[in-house]
Amino acid sequence: PLDREELGRATWSTLHTMAAYYPEKPSNAMKEHARSFITALSQLYPCKYCAVDFQKNIELCPPKVDSRVDLSLWLCEQHNIVSKKLQKKPFNCTMEVLDKRWKVGPAS
Ligand code: FAD
Repeated sequence: PLDREELGRATWSTLHTMAAYYPEKPSNAMKEHARSFITALSQLYPCKYCAVDFQKNIELCPPKVDSRVDLSLWLCEQHNIVSKKLQKKPFNCTMEVLDKRWKVGPAS
């Protein structure tokens, strides 16, 4: 079984990578998928108190699903909220840094 830290790393990796490859101009259906995925995750996340906090954070600041940039920055901020609670250093939420970490760059 995964411990809480491994589960967190695996989940954040999935979420940030998903955001990195989310459409620049998503269809309404795609926006709804993104919203539903995040809402469902906040209900199903198998660390109960993590899930409850995530639900509260989403209520305060609902998922921004209008574009790749919006979703990537929103997730970065959400991840920083959790990191702050855990007294970890904040991540620099710019698209340049996020893409370098989570998106394969163009072939050079
Ligand atoms: P992580 O925080 O898992 O980060 C993984 C990698 O992501 C980092 O190495 C870095 O390269 C990159 N990264 C870091 N910050 C950002 C950012 N802001 N944006 C983009 N990339 C970034 N743990 C608890 O103990 N209590 C909780 O309440 C809790 N709630 C959680 C809620 C959710 C929704 C999730 C997904 C996880 C939660 N966790 C919680 C787990 C916690 O966030 C970490 O994943 C875990 O502590 C492991 O931390 P880490 O330092 O290895 O790196």
